[in-house]
Amino acid sequence: MSKSNGPKLTPMLTQYLDIKSQHPGSLLLFRMGDFYETFFEDAKVLSEVAGVTLTSRDARSDHPVPLAGVPYHSIDTYLTRLLRAGITVAICEQVEDPAQAKGLVKRAVVEVISPGTATAPELVDSASGHFCLAWVPGKNELDGWALLDASTGEFRCGQEQATLESLCQRHAVREVIVRESTDSATIRTWQSAMPHMVISLANDAWFHPAFARQTILDHFEVANLTAFGLEDSDRTPAATAAGAVLRYLGSLILKKPAQVTSLRFASRADRLVLDEETLRNLEIFRTFRGETGEGSLIHHIDETLTAMGRRLLEQRLAEALTNLDQINLWHSGIDSALQDRPWRENLRSILRKIGDLERLAARAASGRIGPSALRQVGFSLTALHSLQVAAPEKEHQRHPIVGWLSEVADFEELSEIILQRISEDAPATVRKPGFIADGVHPELDQCRAISNDSKSFLAGLQKQERERTGISTLKVGFNRVFGYYFEVTKKHLDKVPDNFEQKQTLVNACRFHTPELKQAETTILEAEEKADGLETEIFQELITLITNQLGSIHVACQQIAKVDLLLGFAESAEKNQYCRPDCNDSLELSIKAGRHPVVEQLLDHDFIANDTLCDGTDHQVLVLTGPNMGGKSTYLRQVALITLMAQAGGFVPAQSASIGIADRIFTRVGASDNLARGESTFYMEMSETANILHQMSRRSLVILDEIGRGTSTYDGLSLAWAITEFLNNPAGPRPRSVFATHYHQLTELENELPGLVNLRLEVKEWEGKIIFLHSVGPGRSDKSYGIHVARLAGLPETVLQRAQDILSSLSVVDQRDLPALRPADRELPINPVIPNAGQLSLFREAERDALDALHDLDLEKISPMDAFMWLAKIKKQMDD
Ligand code: ADP
Repeated sequence: MSKSNGPKLTPMLTQYLDIKSQHPGSLLLFRMGDFYETFFEDAKVLSEVAGVTLTSRDARSDHPVPLAGVPYHSIDTYLTRLLRAGITVAICEQVEDPAQAKGLVKRAVVEVISPGTATAPELVDSASGHFCLAWVPGKNELDGWALLDASTGEFRCGQEQATLESLCQRHAVREVIVRESTDSATIRTWQSAMPHMVISLANDAWFHPAFARQTILDHFEVANLTAFGLEDSDRTPAATAAGAVLRYLGSLILKKPAQVTSLRFASRADRLVLDEETLRNLEIFRTFRGETGEGSLIHHIDETLTAMGRRLLEQRLAEALTNLDQINLWHSGIDSALQDRPWRENLRSILRKIGDLERLAARAASGRIGPSALRQVGFSLTALHSLQVAAPEKEHQRHPIVGWLSEVADFEELSEIILQRISEDAPATVRKPGFIADGVHPELDQCRAISNDSKSFLAGLQKQERERTGISTLKVGFNRVFGYYFEVTKKHLDKVPDNFEQKQTLVNACRFHTPELKQAETTILEAEEKADGLETEIFQELITLITNQLGSIHVACQQIAKVDLLLGFAESAEKNQYCRPDCNDSLELSIKAGRHPVVEQLLDHDFIANDTLCDGTDHQVLVLTGPNMGGKSTYLRQVALITLMAQAGGFVPAQSASIGIADRIFTRVGASDNLARGESTFYMEMSETANILHQMSRRSLVILDEIGRGTSTYDGLSLAWAITEFLNNPAGPRPRSVFATHYHQLTELENELPGLVNLRLEVKEWEGKIIFLHSVGPGRSDKSYGIHVARLAGLPETVLQRAQDILSSLSVVDQRDLPALRPADRELPINPVIPNAGQLSLFREAERDALDALHDLDLEKISPMDAFMWLAKIKKQMDD
């Protein structure tokens, strides 16, 4: 038999590879003593992403193994970097005491953390949800979706026709899970549309409707899905998505996700859902440049004080209300909160003390909470109790806030227990003892007393031995290996008495034991060990207490979120002078002196308020014209935003507003405004417009900004024209529509189409300059003032002059060649010729004069001979 001389794996690497093969999609952090190590590809990734030095094992051999490791106590820092980079991490621990292990210490993966299921506070943005989305595209049925936030336990599902992108845009999704059999081309398409999204593949079986259903039944320990509104077979897509994401989370944390205590079916009918494009166009969460903060609607209207309230606001803006009773309840709640400022301010001052209870409680339930954070839970629950006491004050007994808080359980006792048991200066982690307060447990107090007594005994012993030996530098020390010792520097070794037993030799000193020291050490260590055990036990009891009440804490958090949002709406209404809208079931949108909630805050001059009347009948389609920079986009968006804010339950930037509830708000912006997105913009523009035209209903609000301008003038005009007719078609849904366009020809439709009304942005011309008045009035704008705007933008005067010349020529040609457009029953010319700038530059002055002369020629009054003479003259002029 020949002996193999090839490279051999050590038992440890064999164990590593074995475990790694069970987690091929994750970066495996392999615990070895005080380090987490990574090998092979994982080591390279860790080094690149987290900046850890890459070394190698057996560096001098022919087959070195790449290696990178991080100290176990700073694991959180590295986890954060890995998860932020979209990497899923499997944590493999030593699952037996190395001292007891026979041979190789046993290791096992104890938890897998994916970017979308992370819970640690440094990984999840408190102002926003942190969702993992399961997506079940329907074949003959609706698409199912489920959103699970592992950091809060928030869990909801639904079904509708929506693209994956739009769901991700609408909710704060960090990770998507889909069936592993999803074809790779589809995944590539999603990935390129959403480069920062983590798309994970999950076992197909988890998406099997029966399996998914069983997952939910097992988790909630129920016999059917009725309680969640999912028992009906036509809710299968939603239930399937919910089961799949729940199973996914369970498979990662390798235990039941205790923080998930409820599941809600979100019905499409009672929500005003904004699609992805509309969220972007209205800059609800991000500006056009993709930035959060200033310029986004949420930034300018958010006055919430708790993370829960802020997350509810986020949800409300993506999915506002459509139920009139609910909307009116919110509006009247804000109204009365505004009447009583001291009451409101008192409640808000209490809200400030409520931390992110939802996330803290979820962390407690998943066993990932430290003592100081647990104390925060206690403070939050105490503040909640104060809120419950303060809200029903005076005449507010019937206020919606009081109703909401009455659904919250009483946590006074729980909060007292927590605050009484956790010490005031509790550390962040249980690794440091002393987090349980004195006086909680007699035995713990006793152990502490013993340990303290022994420590003062040690101090006395040190003093005594110094005196006895005459070694003034003799000192008592401690280390984990040798326990307590006396340390004597080499200089004084000759003075060491006989009963000192040498234990350790250092360069400059020696360390000794004595029987008395040994005795004190045993007493101290035993007492400390006992105390540690007791502290952990008491801490665990508290965790169990919280976990047992987690369901009611979740309910409490939902109610706190509503209280906070309502008072936040009141606050922003007062600060920004918003009015209470009158929401009703008419189709009328009537706004007096409306403003754009974001633009008005960013301007360094006054915002000009404007009225709007749009209804399903006489003012059904508003066609808005005006020069660039006149304020068209601002006006369009302000109409949409006022409607949205009202239906989100808040007040609106206007003097008064009557709002017939909208079921959808659609907005599309013409291609050239969207160039930043770098897509084939005209195609996108048309496909999105097609989507609106298919989905809109009588109750929808459709906002179109310069649709059609992504193609040649004639194409664009024809499309804009046909779309306007379609919106206005008496046989169609006739949604309320506002259309800004630079195709002035469209304004002609006012005479032809009932319900179409022209509006224009007013401007004044003064000494060749243009003044934007930003006020919207009836009528059409006759000029586009492009050259005036270009002058404002600083184009050189020579360019402007030349443009003016070209414009004059164009106007001549325009008047003759561009056919007057007519409604659909009269056909547009086939292959119309419109001069473009290139052709125009060919017209010399003489040619233009010739054209002008031809234009003025009256053929009725000229003889054939004179006509010949005239032609000859013109020809000569041109040849010159
Ligand atoms: P358009 O879409 O017609 O090109 P915008 O709506 O983009 O014009 O508005 C251009 C600028 O005019 C805005 O950035 C803002 O500074 C200002 N503006 C718009 N509407 C108003 C208004 N109602 N009051 C004051 N300034 C306005």
